Amino acid sequence: MRSEGESRQQSIWEHREPEGGPGKPAPAPPEAPGEPRLQVLNRQQMAWRVVDVEQLIAEDHPARAIWQLVGKLDLSAFYKGIGAVEGEAGRPALDPQLLISLWIYSYSEGVSSAREIARLCEFDPAYQWLTGLQPVNYHSLSDFRVGHREALDKLFTEVLGLLSAEGLVSLQRVMHDGTKIKACAGGDTFRREEKIRVHLEMARQQVREMGDPQNEELSQRVAKARQRAARERQERLEQAEKELRTRRSTAEAQREARVSETDPEARIMKQAGGGYAPAYNVQISTDAAQGIIVGVGLSQSAGDWGQLNAAMDRIQEKLGRLPEQVVVDGGFTSREAILDMGRRGVDFIGAIADTTARAASQFARRGVEAAFRPEAFAYHPESDTYTCPAGKVLHYERKHRDIGVTDYYYRASAADCGNCEFRKNCCHANTNAGRSVVRAEEALAVAAFRVKMATDEAKQIYRQRGPVAEFPNAWIKTKIGLRQFRLRGLAKVTMETLWACLTYNIQQWIRLRWRALSVSGTG
Ligand code: SF4
Repeated sequence: MRSEGESRQQSIWEHREPEGGPGKPAPAPPEAPGEPRLQVLNRQQMAWRVVDVEQLIAEDHPARAIWQLVGKLDLSAFYKGIGAVEGEAGRPALDPQLLISLWIYSYSEGVSSAREIARLCEFDPAYQWLTGLQPVNYHSLSDFRVGHREALDKLFTEVLGLLSAEGLVSLQRVMHDGTKIKACAGGDTFRREEKIRVHLEMARQQVREMGDPQNEELSQRVAKARQRAARERQERLEQAEKELRTRRSTAEAQREARVSETDPEARIMKQAGGGYAPAYNVQISTDAAQGIIVGVGLSQSAGDWGQLNAAMDRIQEKLGRLPEQVVVDGGFTSREAILDMGRRGVDFIGAIADTTARAASQFARRGVEAAFRPEAFAYHPESDTYTCPAGKVLHYERKHRDIGVTDYYYRASAADCGNCEFRKNCCHANTNAGRSVVRAEEALAVAAFRVKMATDEAKQIYRQRGPVAEFPNAWIKTKIGLRQFRLRGLAKVTMETLWACLTYNIQQWIRLRWRALSVSGTG
């Protein structure tokens, strides 16, 4: 329904006379609006831009923190071997501070490919800020990553020293753990000796037949790349043959004398998610105070058994002292480890295996009923004998010493058991000898460890192990993306791991110190 005003307006419009008065032509109706006028995008143009490099990234960008921290470190070991020197002709070398900062920043962003870093240096503001807009060749990056083993190790130690000086490392409690990282090799690259010899001869033949790259019809770059690839394959196969020679001397070798042609130093290991794959066992020690990695090593052994001493050696070497306490899972906990840690003065918290359940299942398999298992036999210390459930005496027979434990063996006479009504429930498999039992006498330190691990305090400490020890493992795999190595061979994957752990520690420093200083304006 129209309002009164609208009706009046409508009436005026309908009866309005032409503007010039009666008899004059009516004015033209208003024009329709034109098409929208938009800015034209021209992607064919060439343009110069003014870039203020300092403004490429924010004041609190982590690239600045990395550059700043790396600049504080002694990089002299990286400068050794640089051919370009002042006063002589030639192209200047890339500054190790830049290459280290690039690698650490890229690892922190989950980039571990030299080619990808070189590409990012062309357009990514953080990489451009680090390089000062200079291009960086991926060969330089790639060579630098693996070319300075000792210097990199020293750098890791120096960063640890700096973190320790800033109060981020206490060594009061260290959690140690191992994690499997897949090798850069497929499971189908494992071959036996015979096959490797054939492939090695073929590779040598190929290298011999490859001519001088200077005379190749292909571009020299392609010819050189092919020759390098063939030479590297020959080297890998030679390494595989050498690995087989090393492994032949062990019992494991006789069962499993196969190595990977692609990465001869990798070993088949069970993976956390199930299944088996060529891998390395990365051993990481983490300080519980702030989660800083205080030691890192690589093992070709699938199990963690026996890895703890080496881990302690690494911490002592890097920080000049041992941790007050070390916490590990059952994979590391053995009588030997308990004794070793005791000798070194390190308080040891671990999960020692309970063998009761395993022993019970073994007895069940052998048809020994519950009423005739060792706990049903009474020991008499005064006579050093046992009495069986049928009242017969088992006399001391022999002993066997092992690390941290001595086993004493006692046996009933063949006649007693042969005439016993319980024989089928107790030792039906024994035809020529009587039933035996074993009394284990553990070293005092091992017994004391068992008592300690039964306390609430020790159990509470042990519960902290998982979150602390597994955090760096998870961070390295998810944030850095190191689920599989890019490099091959123990020496190179050790360096790849060192870069990842160095990056992890520097990230912790940024989180715990640099960001706080940036916020307070004192950084
Ligand atoms: S079989 Fe031998 S050890 Fe077992 S209950 Fe009989 S006598 Fe004792």
